[in-house]
Amino acid sequence: MSRALERAGTWVGWAFFADLGSALALTFGYMFSRPVTMQYPDKEKWVPYSRYRGHHFLKRDEAGEIKCVACELCARICPCDCIEVVPYEDENGKRHPSKFEIDTARCLFCGLCEDACPADAIALGQQYEFSSFSSRDLVIGRDDLLAKPGKAATGGSVVAAQLNTEKIVLVETKEPRGYNWWRNIRRT
Ligand code: SF4
Ligand code: SF4
Repeated sequence: MSRALERAGTWVGWAFFADLGSALALTFGYMFSRPVTMQYPDKEKWVPYSRYRGHHFLKRDEAGEIKCVACELCARICPCDCIEVVPYEDENGKRHPSKFEIDTARCLFCGLCEDACPADAIALGQQYEFSSFSSRDLVIGRDDLLAKPGKAATGGSVVAAQLNTEKIVLVETKEPRGYNWWRNIRRT
C-alpha cells in the first residue's frame, strides 16, 4: 500500500473516532440532564403552537353572527367527505348553515377546509383532547363547533395539569403559564 493511501486511512480512522466521540458525548449529556418525558395527562399538558391543526372551530363576526355563508366549498374540497353543510337563506337573502356537521372520526386534519373557506369562517384550533368510545360522539354540530377553542395565541409550552376523570375534559390546566419544555431538548 502506498504511503498516501496509508495516511488517508489514518485520517478516516481519526474522523470515525471523532464522530463516535461526539455521539457518545451527546448520549452521556442526556444521561445526566433532566428527563424530557412529559407527564401527560396526570401532571402536564402540552399547549400547541398556533399553526397546530387540532379540532375545528367555527368563527363569529364582530356582530356575533356566524361567519359561515354556507357556500359548501369546505365540504366539496374535503378529501374525506366528512363535512355536511345544509344552507338556508334568511329574510335578507343572506346564506347561513342550518346544519353544519363534521365527522371528526373520518377527518385527517389536513386543513384544506380552512384553506378553501372564502369567509374565514372555519379553522383548525388548539384542542386535541376529544377522543371517545363512540364514533357518534365524534360527529360535531354547528353550535358545538362555534363553542370550540380557537388557535393558541402562543404555544409550544407545557403547563401544569391534572387528570380529572369526572369531567368530559380529562385534563384541567391549573396554571396559565408553564415552562418551556423545549429547553430540556439539546439542540446544536
Ligand atoms: S381537515 Fe381535511 S379532512 Fe378534515 S374536514 Fe377539513 S378538509 Fe376534511
Ligand atoms: S365554512 Fe367556509 S367554506 Fe365552509 S360552507 Fe362555511 S363559508 Fe363555505
